[in-house]
This record gives sequence, structure tokens and C-alpha cells, in this order.
Amino acid sequence: MSKPPLRLDTPIQFVKGVGPRRASDLSKERIATVEDFLLYLPFRYEDRSKFKKISELRDGEVAVVLGQVALTGIRHAQRKRLSILEVVVRDESALLGLKFFNQPFLKNIIRRGDWVVAYGEVRWDPFKPGRLSMQHAEFEIIDNPMHKQVHVGRITPIYRRIGTVSGKVIRQIEWDVQQEIDEKVPAWLPRAVEAKLGLPDRTTAVLGLHAPPLDYSKAERLKELNAFQSPFHFRLIVEEFFLFQTGLLIARQRREERIKDRKIEITDSIRERLKRMLPFHPTAAQKEVLREIVEDLQSRHPMNRLLQGDVGSGKTIVAAQAALVVVDNGWQVAVMAPTEILAEQHYRTFSKLFAPLGVNTALLSRPTSKQERSEIQKALSNRSLNLLIGTHALIQGVVQFSKLGFVIIDEQHRFGVMQRSALMGKGENVDTLIMTATPIPRSLAMTVYGDLDVSVIDQLPPGRKPIRTILKSQANREEVYELVEREIAARRQAYVVYPLIEESEKVNLRAVKTMGEELCRRFPKLRIGVLHGRLKPAEKDKLMGKFAAAQIDILAATTVVEVGIDVPNATVMVVEHAERFGLSQLHQLRGRVGRGAQESICVLLVDRVSSEDAWERLQIMKKSQDGFLIAEKDLEIRGPGEFAGTRQSGVPLFRHGNLLRDLKLMQIAREEAASYLRSLSGNERDFYVAKMGKAWQAKFQLSRVG
Ligand code: ADP
Ligand code: MG
Repeated sequence: MSKPPLRLDTPIQFVKGVGPRRASDLSKERIATVEDFLLYLPFRYEDRSKFKKISELRDGEVAVVLGQVALTGIRHAQRKRLSILEVVVRDESALLGLKFFNQPFLKNIIRRGDWVVAYGEVRWDPFKPGRLSMQHAEFEIIDNPMHKQVHVGRITPIYRRIGTVSGKVIRQIEWDVQQEIDEKVPAWLPRAVEAKLGLPDRTTAVLGLHAPPLDYSKAERLKELNAFQSPFHFRLIVEEFFLFQTGLLIARQRREERIKDRKIEITDSIRERLKRMLPFHPTAAQKEVLREIVEDLQSRHPMNRLLQGDVGSGKTIVAAQAALVVVDNGWQVAVMAPTEILAEQHYRTFSKLFAPLGVNTALLSRPTSKQERSEIQKALSNRSLNLLIGTHALIQGVVQFSKLGFVIIDEQHRFGVMQRSALMGKGENVDTLIMTATPIPRSLAMTVYGDLDVSVIDQLPPGRKPIRTILKSQANREEVYELVEREIAARRQAYVVYPLIEESEKVNLRAVKTMGEELCRRFPKLRIGVLHGRLKPAEKDKLMGKFAAAQIDILAATTVVEVGIDVPNATVMVVEHAERFGLSQLHQLRGRVGRGAQESICVLLVDRVSSEDAWERLQIMKKSQDGFLIAEKDLEIRGPGEFAGTRQSGVPLFRHGNLLRDLKLMQIAREEAASYLRSLSGNERDFYVAKMGKAWQAKFQLSRVG
């Protein structure tokens, strides 16, 4: 029986050298087929077409050498805490030491007589004056250096290991696949755009990245490759961004073509009720944003608006007013929050605002009993209930609205796109308002939320004082406790946030349970609550309710209080192990205080700052309270992949593109996508949408495109 030929859609498991174990590892990188595998690109390149002679190496240069292992040995230093493996390699010109710290097991991997390629920075050897060595070299054992094809003798692609599959194995398999396959890699980018931008075709780009042509050994071209700036890279990145942007643009067009059968009117009576609802004077920004929202509600096309506003800027009241407009016009409104604690809080806030106006409110979350559920369902059906608040329990199939017109989603970065659209699907052409306090840097918002209209509350309610942010080390814990004591004596309240629920043997971090006990000992007279995600929902609710009613002085909590919680009388936020938290997270936590007229304090208690990034984060927190600036910095430090917790943030994951590095290409892609779509006739566009729909969904979760 002859082997079936390798095709792009062949499952990767059936490729020579892979098998089930490796296939399962590869699936972690979203590699299921030969095509996916071909799209797994090198992250770096070494020119192994010619090696540097060891005798010609200079201090400080980054070089690739090929040599044979002459000897290896392990030394211990500093009372054996440190082991140094030294490997001496020899080429035809001289000897070079490679040093590996605390990796004694490498001794069994690099053996005398092996041929190795080593890549790294060359430095004077601190232990042997006058000699050069390479520390932490990246190395690869070469079976046969005369066999110059796959691993040496060319611009060699370096792949990141995936699970148990080493970079070298990946290189070998990529090589074999390329020899066997002669299908073209299916392209998404229209020919016309490809030609206009002068990009190579997709197959050329993919193959070129796995096996760069020889002229890439020129220094500047090699640099291009290593900076992800070769024409091959551009092709794949632009293509990916183009696909994404056409998806966004089509989603937007489709929405603009849909016609609502809702008429929303603003009568004098509604105007009067809107005023009556307000517990305070709205800021100019709040008024302006409400105007934008009401305009959308009255438009013939469904609204899809993102409301951004820094923590504490007062988004809730705007949402409540918009909800009143819709309810008073006889339509139903759903408000979805990401956590039970937040849903409960919204329920309390909304009931207080709506009850005096004669509007019923109900809460639907996980702890809602079966009987309550069926009552809610009945009330929704007979329309005695028009305002429902809840967690994602709202999107479960059983809940049926009879006349859903408006969906408000708070802290949207906590929801996936899928959950959002599931809720929207419970009505016809519903209007959607999405609120977030995790500001998305403007540069990203434009490109990534291109299918949304954006409103910004860029002003805090009057009388807010800046939050004093101080860094304290563990040694000064008592000082911090005294500060907390003083504030509580002045009838304020405090949060203390810990990274863990329970102490663990693996990490030496303070946990909320044990520290709750410590707080009780330290403050015997104070009322202390311990709140974390593993409590029963009813207990969480009770604790939060007590804290909101000032019946608890100190709330020791995990990050369950991170988003949305609003207790204006709390004026102290202590974050333990602040070095452990990301910037956006710290900003959110700090945003729990400074919500009233009193001056508030945020204490970042720091244990050991182990990285430069952590240090930078703390400094930024000290210097700035501007959520937008903090978001930009967060993006800079972490990179968009990690930004605000990857998937959760709603920022799509790109395979090739990097939002920070390639923002220019995103803009180009956006322009090209727009002009391409304009050039299509209606029929052509429908055809394009039909063709791309699946790809959009699979790649970017743009579920509402079609
Ligand atoms: P966020 O935008 O973070 O969701 P909230 O809507 O929770 O902020 O509002 C924060 C606090 O500010 C709440 O206690 C709210 O009642 C209060 N607030 C909102 N707008 C105003 C205003 N215009 N004047 C005074 N207080 C306000
Ligand atoms: Mg909020």
C-alpha cells in the first residue's frame, strides 16, 4: 500500500515524526493540521551558512559557532548553591568555553565528541582572565555537520519548543513537510491588494520564512527577518489584519443595514422622570454621553456602543438613565455584570433608583432559586417586569424576554464576544451598550473595536480628590496598620487585598484566610470581614451588603473586589504583594477608593520586587491615576498578547501580527479593507461574506458578522 500524499488538511498526527503524543502537544499552539503547522513560524534566525571562527570572536559580540565538544565538567561555587557546567568546544581555529548555570542535567545531553552549534553573546570569562566564553548559550547538537541541509548550512530558522517537541524536531518536521507538499497555501488577501502593496504571495511568504533564500545572509536582511520585518512577514501580518478588518467592517455595515421596529420617544414625562431619578447633578461628560446613547436608541439602526470611562467616573447612572428611557417606552432591558457581587450591587443600585418611579427590578444570578426563576420568567412574559439584572445566568437558554430592546453589559472585558452576542440574540435588533473601566488605549480601540461606536466619560464627578498612592515595604506593615486604624477611627472603611485565598506550600504569599485572622488579632475592636471567591454566593452577598452598609470596618478580600464595587465610604485600599499584580489590575483595585468626597489612600505593600517590570509598574502607579495612560503603559510592558488578560480582554489573538509592533500595518489593513469592500457589488459582497464567515468566527470570534 502506498502512503497517501501529504495535504494541507492532513491531521498533523499522521505526519512522519509526529504521532499522538506530539500531536497533543502541538494542539496547545492551535496546530491541528499540516497547514496550521506550516503557519507555526520561527521566532529567530541564525546564519549557519558560515560560522564564525572561534579565534576571531570578540568581546560583546553575538555569534554562532560550530565546534566539537572537547571536554565537559561541573564546578560548584558559593557553598554549592551554584553549579556551573562548562563545555569546551573546539573548531579548527581555537577553543571556546560555554557556561551553563544551575543546569547540571545538561551534562547528560552535551557529551564529548558531539558536534554543537552554539549561539549567544561572547564575553570575557570571569574566571579565566584573557579567555572568552559564552554564557547561557542556546545550543543544538548536530548529528552530522557534513549533512548540510536542515540544521546547518543555511539561514537556519529557530523555533520555539512546544511542550515536549523541541525546536530542532520542529525544524526537521517543517523541512520534511515542505519537501513533500506541493499545494498552494490558501490565501485570504485579494490579489489586487497584494499587488498594490507589492507583497509576495502567501505560499512564497510561508516557505520563505521556513527556508529564507540565501541573500538573507546579508546582515541587514537577516536583521529584517529577526525583527519580523521581512516582506514575508509583512505579507502574513497584513493578510491577517485585513481579514480581521473586513470582518469588523462587514459587521458594522450589516448592523447599519438592519432596521429596528422600535420607536423610542422622549416625552416631557420621561424627561421629568429622568431628572427625578438623579441623586446628584450629572457631570457635563455624563450628560453628553447620555445624549449620544439616546440618539442611538432613537436611530433606526441598532446601537452598538462602547462606553469607556475611568474607574469611578460614574457610568452606572448613565446606564440607568438610558434604561429608564427604554423601559418607559414599553421595552425590556437586561443588565449583565461579570460577577455575582457586582450583579448584586447593581441590583441594589438600580432598585433604589427605579423603585420610586414605579419600575420593578429583579435579579437573576446563580443562587436564584428555581421558584424565583419561574416567577421572574412569568413576570417577563406578562411584562410586569421590564428591568432584569444578572450575571451570565441571563444568557442561559431558559430565560425568555417578551420584548427585549436594550442590553447593557458592564465591565465587558470580562465577557467573551460569544457571551455578549448570546444576550443580544434574545431580542430582535437589540440596542447594546457595553461599558468598561479598563480603558483600551486609543490606538487599540480604533482598530480592535472598529465595529463599535465609542463614547468616553473623560471627567470625574466634582469634589473628588486624587488618591494618595504610597509604596511601603513589609517591614513597615505596622505603620500601614496604624494608618488603617486612624481612617477607621474617622468612620471610614478599608479594603485589604491579598493574592491568595489560602496559604500554599508552593508559593510564599500572604493569603486572605490567615491574614484575616491576623487582622482580627491586631484589631480586636474592629469588625473584619473575609471575602473570597470560594464562599457561597449568599455569604458573599451578605458580606458585601454589610460592608456597603458600614457594618464592617475592614474587608479582607481577594481580587473578587477588583471590578465595579462601589462603596464610597471606603477610603483605604491596601494591596498586599502589590508587585504581583498587573498594572490594569492595580488601577482597578485602587479605583475601589476615591469614590466620595474624602481623600483616599492606596497603599501598595511590596514584598520583594523581583523584576524590572514589577518595579516600573509600581512607579507608574505612584505617578499616575490616568487610566488611559496606565493602559498604554500596561500594553507597552506586557505586549498586546498579554494585555488585560488576553482572551478575556476581548482583544483578539493574532497568529502573526502583534498589535504593538505592527500597529502601522493594522492601519494599512484597515484602509485597504475599507476600499476593497467599497469596490465590491452587493452580490460580490454577499459572496465574500459567505466565504469568510467561518474564518472570522474561528480566528477572531466575530460571531455577529454574518
Ligand atoms: P464607574 O464608572 O466606575 O462604574 P460608578 O458609576 O460606580 O463608577 O460611580 C462611582 C461613584 O460616583 C458612585 O458612588 C456614584 O454614585 C458616584 N457618582 C457618579 N456620578 C456622580 C456625579 N455626577 N456626582 C456625584 N457623584 C457621582
Ligand atoms: Mg462600574
